[in-house]
Amino acid sequence: MIMEEKTNNVAIDGPAGTGKSTVSKLLAKKLGFLMFDTGATYRAVSYGCIECKTDLTDEAACTEIARKVTVEINKESGEQRVFFDGKDCTPYIRSPEVTKAVSQVATKPAVRSVMVNLQKATTACGGFVAEGRDIGTVVFPNAKCKFYLDASLEIRTQRRLKQMQEDATYQLSSSSTPKEPTEKEIADLRETIALRDEADKKRAVGPLVAAPDAIVIDTGSFTIDQTVEELYKICVTKLDIKSE
Ligand code: C5P
Repeated sequence: MIMEEKTNNVAIDGPAGTGKSTVSKLLAKKLGFLMFDTGATYRAVSYGCIECKTDLTDEAACTEIARKVTVEINKESGEQRVFFDGKDCTPYIRSPEVTKAVSQVATKPAVRSVMVNLQKATTACGGFVAEGRDIGTVVFPNAKCKFYLDASLEIRTQRRLKQMQEDATYQLSSSSTPKEPTEKEIADLRETIALRDEADKKRAVGPLVAAPDAIVIDTGSFTIDQTVEELYKICVTKLDIKSE
């Protein structure tokens, strides 16, 4: 059965480190919507491939792994958890190993097809703010509110660094003791982000690109609160909902 897409879902796309996650979380809260981090589903596939020692060039094998990924979003708390083969892998999906493999896994058309179906089924009832790379173009093509967040590579690297220092699930090294990053670690992080952007933008299926009807915002010139306020105003108008 083909379900008709609800147009009150909000799409937020853009490269890593543009503040998509924070903005989506705050915007969803303000709108009374649920937030969906779709990158976590691709990370769960990447985690599964590493766990099963899957050959990352083998599309059929990666797709089998993708079929075993599920996601749960708690309607009350908004908390999102991803599972591989029934095991909650949420705490492990931000490791450097998973991050390194994820773009390669996400390039495979058959893997993307399984993930897009999962994402569409998860958001079928509407009222979601979903963030990712192909939300406005593929997952919610008919959404009334589509945004594309961008910022320079330098700003994005600094933001990701701060996030990694504050969030124990992101780690620069395998050491469990938090420490100041070295110049080399910062340069490596900058390169990893640049390479991931390039892989995401160049892939044939579901590439990272602003949908023609998306509003593009350079978050380098705004604070998080200003960005959320801007997006919120647009959503209230386009979705015809009562402002708080
Ligand atoms: O958003 P996050 O950085 O966690 O995404 C991890 C990776 O998952 C991205 O670099 C991209 O390769 C992939 N992804 C994707 N499509 C999405 C969300 C994420 O290809 N909708």
